[in-house]
Amino acid sequence: MAQELLPSTHPVKSREQTTCCVVGAGPAGAVLSFMLARQGIPVILLESHLDFDRDFRGDTFHPSILEVMDELGLADRLLQLPHTKLSQVTVPTPTGPRVVLDLSHLKTKFPYTAFMPQSRFLAFITGEAQCFPSFQLVMGAHVEELIEEGGHVRGVRYRGRDGWHEVRALLTIGADGRFSRLRRLAGFEPIKSLQPMDVLWFRLPRKPDDPRGLMGRFGRGHILGQIERGEQWQVIYIIAKGSYRQVRAAGLEALRHSIVETAPEFADRVGALTDWQQIPVLSVEADRLPRWYRPGLLLIGDAAHVMSPAGGNGINYAIMDAVAAANLLTAPLQAGEVTVADLARIQRRREWPTRIIQAMVNLLQDRLLKAALDPTSSFTFPSFLGWPLVRKVIPQLFAFGIRPEHVQQQARRRPTWFPNRHQPKPRISFGLSTS
Ligand SMILES: Cc1cc2nc3c(=O)[nH]c(=O)nc-3n(C[C@H](O)[C@H](O)[C@H](O)COP(=O)(O)OP(=O)(O)OC[C@H]3O[C@@H](n4cnc5c(N)ncnc54)[C@H](O)[C@@H]3O)c2cc1C
Repeated sequence: MAQELLPSTHPVKSREQTTCCVVGAGPAGAVLSFMLARQGIPVILLESHLDFDRDFRGDTFHPSILEVMDELGLADRLLQLPHTKLSQVTVPTPTGPRVVLDLSHLKTKFPYTAFMPQSRFLAFITGEAQCFPSFQLVMGAHVEELIEEGGHVRGVRYRGRDGWHEVRALLTIGADGRFSRLRRLAGFEPIKSLQPMDVLWFRLPRKPDDPRGLMGRFGRGHILGQIERGEQWQVIYIIAKGSYRQVRAAGLEALRHSIVETAPEFADRVGALTDWQQIPVLSVEADRLPRWYRPGLLLIGDAAHVMSPAGGNGINYAIMDAVAAANLLTAPLQAGEVTVADLARIQRRREWPTRIIQAMVNLLQDRLLKAALDPTSSFTFPSFLGWPLVRKVIPQLFAFGIRPEHVQQQARRRPTWFPNRHQPKPRISFGLSTS
């Protein structure tokens, strides 16, 4: 556990009091803040960046997320924003193309995954939240300290553009992602699991007569995936864990060559890759916290459990945590008292689905990816992927995860005081004093 912090010595520009302070406007923090503010609960959402622009993040909006958006009355407007729908994933095999995932038969209003840049989704959700007078978003707010009294977290201190600020709150939520500052400040140590891969991301031009959707191909010692993004392909180049240095040392020309070897149609466009700066690398990690809460503090999303990007679970489980937290915390927050038992209930509800899916992904990665990423072994599809039960279960798991959350009935009703959404009251500031 963290040591009791001494009072901050920083001169503080502003002090605000709220009911819930959410740190991190990623998918978990943004959706939770929206849902609480919609119930009239005062929320301050603090985000360290000045905008939502983030390249190559989880941007697969699974049927489970779209159902939640529908329950909140947001799905129609969300799906008016540019996005790509995907209901099948095909991989070429020596015996011809093989459909490895098919969502089209699922019993849901949304039998597909919507691909949309995460930045667009976050701007949309926080824009909708700004319709509620109880919501306030502060961009450029780097949270660096917890305010603690008698072992109870009472809020945070953040550094903005004009200096230090304090937000005191009945409850603080850490939704600050895989490098969570709050989990470090709270003294929580994650349990890590070894991952077999790292991922390079880049874009290549897409031609009008190119195929559509998402594809995956196995190369020699790598896997190449491509996702349709308007006039571009977002390409995912998966390599064995720790081999990035070798890829870099071999040089850009070798990388371009290997891309063309796996996807010959890219021969006329790999020349667009001229600099390693165009090719960020994600060191794939997966971990989980044994405990997600302390008095006055709860961690959700990647801050509580970093998921492997395989299967697009990161964003899905982050949003499901947010829905569970909103469902279980609305009443205690409205009543002005959140107990440790309330927080423990959220971990109990969300921990086991997270652990099961992490274990399943680890198993699949071990059986599939390790062999595919070893250039010395010849890769064949494991036969169990063709078993009828497995073919049925995988789309379900991909679409809904384990224990999908739903917005509780009373929260689905449009609040009677719902403001005119065409005249949102701006409640956004940029790391500056708002008081
Ligand atoms: C390169 C990359 C590719 C990915 N690809 C996929 C994918 O294909 N599929 C998939 O499902 N998942 C993917 N993920 C993971 C996915 O993006 C995350 O699981 C998901 O975004 C988690 O949501 P979150 O809200 O918990 O955290 P995040 O999305 O990480 O949001 C945390 C937010 O907190 C803010 N923050 C951090 N520290 C502070 C602080 N001290 N003060 C204030 N704000 C702070 C951050 O700026 C950020 O906005 C990828 C992640 C990365 C990094």
